[in-house]
Amino acid sequence: MHEMSLVSSILDIANEELAKRQLTRLTRVVVHCGQISNVVADSLLLCFEVLTTGTPHQGAVLEVVNIPLSLRCRHCGQSFTGEGQESLWLPCPLCSAQCGYDIVQGKEFFIQQLEAE
Ligand SMILES: [Zn+2]
Repeated sequence: MHEMSLVSSILDIANEELAKRQLTRLTRVVVHCGQISNVVADSLLLCFEVLTTGTPHQGAVLEVVNIPLSLRCRHCGQSFTGEGQESLWLPCPLCSAQCGYDIVQGKEFFIQQLEAE
């Protein structure tokens, strides 16, 4: 379960930021999670709860914002919303070409916001 190490990194980053600002308790974390980032939001929430229990951050809210997959066809140059990993292997819904896509968004995973007191 790589979500455990992701949450652990999130908390490392948060602790570093909090220390810089002389804050001690995390209240809210917002992460952006792309549709094909291979991160399972439910596992993330569970790991967050496990890793914050018994720490000053216990009770902090983890908010996962799901970012839909957006692809740009290399043939017609148009962007469209994909339906998951398999969209990468299907012909373009707009021009039917099958020459690959650039991923506009949907692969990312990052901390968007930290709130602390
Ligand atoms: Zn196309």
